[in-house]
Amino acid sequence: MTPAVVVSAKGAARWRQGHPWIYRSDVLTTGRTPAGPVPVTDRSGRFLGQALFSPASEIRLRLLTREEDPLDGAWWRARVEAAAARRADLPPNTTAYRVVHAEGDGLPSLIVDRYGDVVVAQILSAGLEAIRPLVLEAIQETLRPQGVLLRNDAAVRRHEGLPLEILEAAGSVPDTVEVQEGGIRYLVSPREGQKTGAFLDQRENRLLLGRLAQGDGLDVFTYQGLFALHVAGRCPRVLAVDSSTAALAVARRNAALNARDNVAWREANAFDLLRALEREGRTFGTIVLDPPAFAKQKSAVPRALAGYKEINLRALRLLAPGGVLFTASCSFHVNRAAFLDMLAAAAADSGRRVVLEQVTGQSSDHPELLTVPETGYLKGALLRVL
Ligand code: SAH
Repeated sequence: MTPAVVVSAKGAARWRQGHPWIYRSDVLTTGRTPAGPVPVTDRSGRFLGQALFSPASEIRLRLLTREEDPLDGAWWRARVEAAAARRADLPPNTTAYRVVHAEGDGLPSLIVDRYGDVVVAQILSAGLEAIRPLVLEAIQETLRPQGVLLRNDAAVRRHEGLPLEILEAAGSVPDTVEVQEGGIRYLVSPREGQKTGAFLDQRENRLLLGRLAQGDGLDVFTYQGLFALHVAGRCPRVLAVDSSTAALAVARRNAALNARDNVAWREANAFDLLRALEREGRTFGTIVLDPPAFAKQKSAVPRALAGYKEINLRALRLLAPGGVLFTASCSFHVNRAAFLDMLAAAAADSGRRVVLEQVTGQSSDHPELLTVPETGYLKGALLRVL
């Protein structure tokens, strides 16, 4: 058995407070411990739990369990099965969803997304990479997919000293998969799409908008058109905007797949377009703003907030009376309070009376643990102007 890794009192306290990470500075063991699962003790040799050890990462230990049971195939299967069982009551016609949300499901550094018969997974720590066969076997036996693709091209792998790569790990994975989200069908490219192929974290927010959209619709930062296609079921006309030619090409194919011909797809910079629409005096009954993360690091937060405020202020000005704005931020470093403060400032500058109807977050298949802020990043708000 691997010798135990010893942690400081401060390290041990993190686990007691419900956070699974122990940082480099709180690991007292010197010498070489290979990457993989290890038992962990305090200075006096008292057993604290078993964790994934990453020798090159600032996040040196990720808690797996406080028990001493063997971390064998059955253990990994049970954890993946438990995560899958928590998704048993997804709404009908949902064939694309997250099965494992890493720390949020007690499976640190593991992402497992399901797209129909295909699974796209990410192994995001050296400790987990060391036992890849065990993890893959648990995924295959529990979910029985036609194939498993590893989208191990996420930049965080660099902090772990791991290569960025995309590989077919089991079975066969087609280049394009068709999935369903409520009444909408859409195409996913597991190898090329953003994240593991799609923004599954917005699924419930898209369904929400699909239920309450009204008037002319505007979907800014549409990517492959999903919000636009949901609201197009209720809006007579929708304008959908993105700066990516490739994303819009897929959006057009998705529109055809759903026989929606009331969406105009426009390639443009969102900031320029919002300004132009305002100049033209256009108004909308429903607007969606789902920008990329403006703050990728903490130091970028002030600039990011200025950017968020600008697009939200312009969107509020474009709303017809009674119109709704769904607005989101996926910047982890902009927390919920800062997001709502920014919206309040935009509302004040707009000179309109703006009601905060709902505060939302990521879909429930992306569970956010209160004691692990890193498991939550997406904030959403549904605003209505009077
Ligand atoms: N709403 C989408 C996800 C949006 S991801 C969904 O539910 O699936 C963010 C999108 O913003 C990307 O497609 C990216 O191409 C686009 N984007 C980034 N910067 C932009 C800009 N300045 N103007 C317009 N689109 C932009």
